Amino acid sequence: MQNLHPHHKEVEMFTTFLTSRRLRKTPERFEILHCALDYKGHFDADCLYHSLEEKGYHVSKATIYSTIELLCSSGIIRRLLFDTHQARYERASLTHCHLICTECGEINEINLEEVDISLADMKIPYFTPVYVSTCIYGICDKCRKMGKVIK
Ligand SMILES: [Zn+2]
Ligand SMILES: [Zn+2]
Repeated sequence: MQNLHPHHKEVEMFTTFLTSRRLRKTPERFEILHCALDYKGHFDADCLYHSLEEKGYHVSKATIYSTIELLCSSGIIRRLLFDTHQARYERASLTHCHLICTECGEINEINLEEVDISLADMKIPYFTPVYVSTCIYGICDKCRKMGKVIK
């Protein structure tokens, strides 16, 4: 009996993607894939770099940057477009809601099944919906305690 790896689906997706683009299936690229999928929360290239270093994998930052681009193109991860401070990413399969503080920019997540809108039923003229990302803007507890009052 073969035990399927928890990232089995993504490994398959990435393999298909690399093959279709005639790109090499290097072990580094797959190490970065696993690292990105295992990462709790949002990440950037530095997060993956340090996480890989901790596991004893030495991968150059350049390789991490280029692999992140490939993981985005293949639809496995996606860039958080609301986060303008820095380029950050998350697993594309996640459905959750982002809570964004308008004072300090901190982003937290909550699970919100209700916001899982069915894209299949959605008809928008001149636009093809791909995914829904929900953001709720407000004041985080830290900022509220510091006396920043909601206007
Ligand atoms: Zn805040
Ligand atoms: Zn998120």
